[in-house]
Amino acid sequence: MSRIILRNLVKRFEKTIAVDKVSLDIADGSFVVLLGPSGCGKTTTLRCIAGLEIPDEGEIYIDNQLVNDVPPRDRDIAMVFQNYALYPHMSVYDNLAFPLKMRKYPKGEIDRLVRETARLLNIEQHLSKKPRQLSGGEQQRVALGRAIIRRPKAFLMDEPLSNLDAKLRLHMRAELKRLQKDLGITTVYVTHDQAEAMAMADKIAVMNKGKVLQYDTPDVIYNSPASVFVAGFIGTPSMNLLEGTLKLKDNKFIVDTNVFNYVLKNVDTELLKNYIGQEVTLGFRPEDMTLSKDEKEGGYDFEAEVFVIEPTGSNVIVDLKVGDYLVKCVVQRGFITEDTKRVFVKLRADRVHLFEGKSGKIIV
Ligand code: ADP
Ligand code: MG
Repeated sequence: MSRIILRNLVKRFEKTIAVDKVSLDIADGSFVVLLGPSGCGKTTTLRCIAGLEIPDEGEIYIDNQLVNDVPPRDRDIAMVFQNYALYPHMSVYDNLAFPLKMRKYPKGEIDRLVRETARLLNIEQHLSKKPRQLSGGEQQRVALGRAIIRRPKAFLMDEPLSNLDAKLRLHMRAELKRLQKDLGITTVYVTHDQAEAMAMADKIAVMNKGKVLQYDTPDVIYNSPASVFVAGFIGTPSMNLLEGTLKLKDNKFIVDTNVFNYVLKNVDTELLKNYIGQEVTLGFRPEDMTLSKDEKEGGYDFEAEVFVIEPTGSNVIVDLKVGDYLVKCVVQRGFITEDTKRVFVKLRADRVHLFEGKSGKIIV
């Protein structure tokens, strides 16, 4: 078990800054996910922790020990990759035993640990098979088994489920989360899949262009995104983001989106004063909208044309045309039908976000 600390980590590849001053404090026993689009520096950060890349700047601590100069094999960390990297000519048994043989464990101890690990991962019946005789999910379990067999200080996992089909991926992600909790071993897990991150993480580090934009629990990341990028990256369908200008009209703060004026409610007047006349982005999630078919109900924020409806099974995503914007809304099945042409939309005022137009940083 161990705590991992990254302090101002920088890694460059010629002109590319792959990792740009990344600082993270990863608590002992926790499951931390590095989440971000392809090329944002997740793998490079992970490889720095493992010792497979040498950072240009910054420090890496494992259990308060500076490990920048400690070679990978002495960091006592196990890595699991997307492509399982099993030895094809070895049996499952020998694949599992390999890390222990390398460390010269006694034969009896190896046998005990291989069987125990195989039992834990439900692959006991496959011990004498070769990797190619196994399904993708079984191979990934062997790869996991090889990582956990000697109970390292930490696991580093780089998109370990992304080669599995959708159903198996959902299954394995639950198993993996449970396994991590049972073993209590600090885990840093890389994925570009926000749903996977939300489902598995104790804390998520949202990355873009080499930087960590927000590092917090899935709840906080979802409910209080620190920037437009984080807001748009988390959640499906993603948050609606409309550009506008902040104005003060009749003593009320409004966002003028060119299509409608949204009146901000319960606002911090002193704070918003600083933004009058500036470009802002209005954000609201598809589930934080109420639709009405009847204008007379009143109290709505804007009206919209029903552009298309997408049933998801449990509910319906309605795409609304508001001026040039397409706004997505999630409603219960049956409420909007093919012959609903116009709707009147009310936003949940306490769930509306306002971001700075240029920097994308959260205002409120
Ligand atoms: P991610 O895992 O988030 O997709 P990576 O950490 O693999 O991102 O890459 C971050 C950036 O660094 C990308 O622009 C990538 O092209 C670059 N990069 C990664 N590894 C190398 C390398 N060995 N040589 C040159 N550029 C690299
Ligand atoms: Mg990667």
